[in-house]
Amino acid sequence: MSDARRPLVAGNWKMNGMSRDGLALAEELARRVKSLAGTSGDRGGGDILRCDLLVCSPATLLWRVAQVLSDTPISVGGQDCHPEPSGAHTGDVSAEMLKDAGAAFVIVGHSERRGEHGESDELVRAKAEAAHAAGLCALICIGETEAERDGGKTLDVLARQLRGSVPQRAGAANTVIAYEPVWAIGAGRTPGTSEIAAAHAHIRETLGARLTDAGNMRVLYGGSVNPSNAAAFLALPEVDGALVGGASLDAEHFWAIARSCP
Ligand code: PEP
Repeated sequence: MSDARRPLVAGNWKMNGMSRDGLALAEELARRVKSLAGTSGDRGGGDILRCDLLVCSPATLLWRVAQVLSDTPISVGGQDCHPEPSGAHTGDVSAEMLKDAGAAFVIVGHSERRGEHGESDELVRAKAEAAHAAGLCALICIGETEAERDGGKTLDVLARQLRGSVPQRAGAANTVIAYEPVWAIGAGRTPGTSEIAAAHAHIRETLGARLTDAGNMRVLYGGSVNPSNAAAFLALPEVDGALVGGASLDAEHFWAIARSCP
């Protein structure tokens, strides 16, 4: 595994948290990461964690969360962006705005956006390109539905989503892929480790057919990751970290997942 594939544990807070909750959560994560400092060189405890950490807060909190985490190795991200940098798009947020507010990442193509907002692979790719143009790392989500899984179509769906959603110029520096089976998100059930390993191997092979930097790109697993199952997923050589929804809203749980990185 290349150094570029240092594990990434990313929290997706979704549409949760008033300012007091989000800031308290960020402050607690900052306290924990700083408590590791002094024994880990210049990363404020990041090296001892054996992973990079990212929190994707609601857009309303992003600027203040970024302030709280500014002197820590924890990155901040948005949860979606518009493909255009600015303009008449009421209610939307551009990648440039996220960057301006302190984000280094943005999630695009989450299944809740694909499902609730009818987002196509083409739109997801345009959003990823906007993220790249703004200097953000795009965290591109893909994953099969339960019906697709039951129909034996998982690997075909993943390949189709990758071909459609990942920009031609994507590389390890500007793109992370998250494999998130739709049926596992928020459901308390997950694929087996061999299924996850097979899906990840297929993702890397599919990326390798199109992108020169595919070997260095991080591919995360997401879907009901919690402190009890994280170690088994993160120990898989094919898995370069986790995208965590529900468990990322609890500092102790998110921290325990990060500490599970081998
Ligand atoms: C997610 O929404 O990206 C996610 C992985 O959620 P959960 O961990 O709650 O399944």
